[in-house]
Amino acid sequence: MTTELTPPSMATRTPGTEGGPTIVICFDGMAPAYLEQTETPVFDRLGEEGRWLTGRCQFPSVTNVNNVSILTGARPADHGINANFAVGPDGEEVYMESPDMIRVPTFLQRAAEAGQRVAAISSKDKLARIIGEHAHVTFSVERPAEWVVAEIGEPPPIYSYEANLWLLRAAPLVVERERPDVLYVTTTDYLSHMLPPQAPEARTAFAESDRLVGALIEGIPGVSIAITADHGMNAKHRGISPEAVLRQAGIESVSVSTLQDRYVKHHGNMSGSAYVHLPHEAADLGRAREVLAARAGIERVLTRAEAAAEFHLDPERIGALVLLGDEETAFGAGDEPEWTITIRSHGSDYEREVPLITWGPRFEGFDGFENRSIGEWLMAPPPQQRSDEYGQQSSIETEGSAR
Ligand SMILES: [Zn+2]
Repeated sequence: MTTELTPPSMATRTPGTEGGPTIVICFDGMAPAYLEQTETPVFDRLGEEGRWLTGRCQFPSVTNVNNVSILTGARPADHGINANFAVGPDGEEVYMESPDMIRVPTFLQRAAEAGQRVAAISSKDKLARIIGEHAHVTFSVERPAEWVVAEIGEPPPIYSYEANLWLLRAAPLVVERERPDVLYVTTTDYLSHMLPPQAPEARTAFAESDRLVGALIEGIPGVSIAITADHGMNAKHRGISPEAVLRQAGIESVSVSTLQDRYVKHHGNMSGSAYVHLPHEAADLGRAREVLAARAGIERVLTRAEAAAEFHLDPERIGALVLLGDEETAFGAGDEPEWTITIRSHGSDYEREVPLITWGPRFEGFDGFENRSIGEWLMAPPPQQRSDEYGQQSSIETEGSAR
């Protein structure tokens, strides 16, 4: 930990920076426990010279919501992505993966508009669509660029432990060939869905990730880097179908898992939280809440307004009720109210701890505690335009921060 504080430099905080590139890496599903179980000399050094703490992600703790929060610095209510998937006002089902659905600018867009060169690469192609919108260079493991394949070979399958490592090997090629001012890298969480932190293959993969991040920043003058995760991951043993629970009580409902997406093999669409839509909301709301709250495994049942207020969600894009599971419960679709599961998943309040590592001139004075703070920092006006109060807070919190 450096004790000497250098004030944020104007030159490195302004779009059109004269400093080195800024790299942001979102490791999908990288709960802090994965790094505790692994030797990570590079991350350790970044933390010692910069800052490493355990931060928080947004609720629901799912991929699209949090990637967009990292990119925009905004909360779900403001950026518009409140789950991976939504039921529209007419009952239509929409995957929240189009850039049109994001209501506020991303730091990639800001950088591109300021004349900077932007690269954004991803393991999953669904994220490449969101992050690639304003990028000069974009590809995914699922749809790799030919020139990258020519250099390092075909990527492994997306459902493999090596998919993210291929992406991290591609990143230095992007820096070398495209000279981006800003590079965003976002991986997939297949491994953390499949393996607990102590699994040898998980430790090998994260140790290799650490080494590849070291190789990525090696020798780039003035480079800055932020490393975080979109959410954590926990073992889940109890499956609950909110629709079946309510059906038994004679209540009609449509329940949406907050992490439902096209990548079913990762998690069977079972999430630690759910949005419950009630076609007869006025008549059924009170009793539906009672029935769900009485069920073991359902830790909290919030109304639309309560959830929107507590978690900064858009009330138009969630359900009449929002369910939070306990640590070992996940919600999904099923004919039975409850069944036994053996999966690793996320989505609840228990998967909100994420690593927050920042290093380099662009992050000097960085004082955030959430993954979205990275985007907020990169979008913020230069320090001299901030209030004195902000500047004071900044130095106090930086001084007190530790891993
Ligand atoms: Zn994820």
